Amino acid sequence: MRAKLRPESLDEFIGQAKLKKRLKVFLDAAKGRKESLDHVLFYGPPGLGKTTLAMLLGKEMGVSVKVTSGPALARAGDLAAILTGLKKGSILFIDEIHRLNKVVEETLYSAMEDYVLDIVLGKGPSAKTVRLNLERFTIVGATTRMALVGGPMRDRFGYVQQLDFYQDEELEDVVKRTAELLQSKIDDKAAFEIAKRSRGTPRIANRLLKRIRDYAQVNSDGRIRLAETKEALEMLGIDEMGLSDADRKYLDVIKKQYDGGPVGVDNLAAALTEDVGTIEEVYEPYLMKKGLIKRTRKGRILV
Ligand code: ADP
Repeated sequence: MRAKLRPESLDEFIGQAKLKKRLKVFLDAAKGRKESLDHVLFYGPPGLGKTTLAMLLGKEMGVSVKVTSGPALARAGDLAAILTGLKKGSILFIDEIHRLNKVVEETLYSAMEDYVLDIVLGKGPSAKTVRLNLERFTIVGATTRMALVGGPMRDRFGYVQQLDFYQDEELEDVVKRTAELLQSKIDDKAAFEIAKRSRGTPRIANRLLKRIRDYAQVNSDGRIRLAETKEALEMLGIDEMGLSDADRKYLDVIKKQYDGGPVGVDNLAAALTEDVGTIEEVYEPYLMKKGLIKRTRKGRILV
């Protein structure tokens, strides 16, 4: 189902207007020269469409996309096996590229820059390095934590683009599109309400829509109206701003236990029994965007 919800062309991809415009130029130029795309890095919070865009680049270029992630490429050999199997012009999507280990990352540098792989065969004094030539390919990297992508890595991408949270009107379109694909009837007001409470994130909008669809099916005739939407969202603990119980707990800890802050992220993570990465990648970007908290050098403060 998830794959089906993904837009099939760049025109179908809702929002991110500036980014889309730039990508079109980038795609047309590469197509015009009959070249492969330069390497692309997308960054931004989870669920904003980085993977979807990588797939769309493949569709637009008419090439295949192989998907992997930083943690999955544990050894340089894993990367070598994938890269030597890539066809000319195809795309390798590496999610969570900030989680590549150093050895793999360094192997990737020469592959990205010169399309060669230096493989060490054997050990000790008899070890030999063999150089393998690779077909031209495109790396599309994605990361939720740009600060953890080192300079040398960043510099190897010809194109580095940030994805922003979506406007409510854009998410309303996402909700309506998904409802149509799910063959659910939805009122405009209900779609806008879901959009407003989806933290600027298409993945969340789609998830809420599915839960509200369940609720409407069980509690009425299945049509998603404003009344059922509000009831369902209340049941799910999602407030007017789209904050969940977990977000409210985060804010509460700073307010009650730390008197409004500053408080270090480690302390927050411990109080919420979450890991630091999740706090930084999932909770905080939206709370900052809404102007509820600030990250300072001394820690997090309530605004
Ligand atoms: P990311 O890789 O940034 O975490 P994904 O590309 O996996 O995000 O997107 C999450 C979900 O949201 C996907 O299932 C996709 O269908 C949907 N989605 C993301 N961006 C859009 C968009 N612009 N228009 C429609 N649906 C979108």
